Amino acid sequence: MLHAGSPHLSAKLLFIDIETSPILLTSWALRPPHASAVYVVRDTYILMASWKWGHEKTVKTAALPDFPGYKRNRHDDSALCVTLRDLLDEADIVVAHNGDAFDIKKINSRLITNGLKPPSPFKTIDTLKAARKAFKFDSNKLDNIGRYLNEGRKIPNTGAALWRGCVEDGDPKAWNAMRRYCKQDTELLVRVYERIKPWMPNHPDMRLYRDSVGCPTCESTNVQRRGVMVKLTTKRHRFHCQDCGHWFSGKPI
Ligand SMILES: [Zn+2]
Repeated sequence: MLHAGSPHLSAKLLFIDIETSPILLTSWALRPPHASAVYVVRDTYILMASWKWGHEKTVKTAALPDFPGYKRNRHDDSALCVTLRDLLDEADIVVAHNGDAFDIKKINSRLITNGLKPPSPFKTIDTLKAARKAFKFDSNKLDNIGRYLNEGRKIPNTGAALWRGCVEDGDPKAWNAMRRYCKQDTELLVRVYERIKPWMPNHPDMRLYRDSVGCPTCESTNVQRRGVMVKLTTKRHRFHCQDCGHWFSGKPI
């Protein structure tokens, strides 16, 4: 939501990552070509989420066992979905790695399945899209980008065993491991975003959220005028942010 009448507030930036369950289905064979689903026992659902607000210091998490309904039904994500809907509803901009194709759509699909209404509109920043647009990394996985940029790695997880421990066994140790894993993903996402932010030509204009001046990406007023930017039919002053390094243009001259 836009903070009408509160110009001192900046855009509410939400960094988010979710973990989902595998689909539980039956099959007559373990390997192709006959390994197709006979019937679905349980559809995919959301296991947990980690998130950080741009204006806060800590990464928060919510996992299914945090909700009272978990004792009755370990596979019910409806209460978690209410939490997620409220987060999206409050956000002006949602940042996620592959969020446009996965996290946000996956959350949407669980919201509608649980009978929830859509959150208020928000902009998105997909760090996977941004990385693909600006760079030619050998891999655009968050883990690898973190490694290239010396910003850290994802926590290695035990894959199938970890998911099985949470989904089928409800094992508190597995849930704790999942929580550490998910939390680290958001911490890494924030660091990777900060590094590639100046390289995003289509970053939302942060100045519009509180009528500030300066750099549209980081709102720093420490900007220098450097030459002109010629577009198809206009010419504009060109500016360089001395804090984040982003280049941008002003009004037509
Ligand atoms: Zn800047």
